[in-house]
Amino acid sequence: MAKTKRGRILWSLPSRGRGTCPVCDSKRIKLLYTRTAKDGTALKVCKKCFKADQVRIDAAGTKL
Ligand SMILES: [Zn+2]
Repeated sequence: MAKTKRGRILWSLPSRGRGTCPVCDSKRIKLLYTRTAKDGTALKVCKKCFKADQVRIDAAGTKL
């Protein structure tokens, strides 16, 4: 399978795969991972927050 998290594939994504992480508020970070909050909201999060507690994902989801 093609690598989807590094290299030229990122250039085809909106904002080249970068943005502000809703969980840790890092700017221009790569948002390549999806976590789902308890209300069903799919959030694009950074590598760090992919491993974050569900509590933090839920908090970011309700904030949006
Ligand atoms: Zn993050």
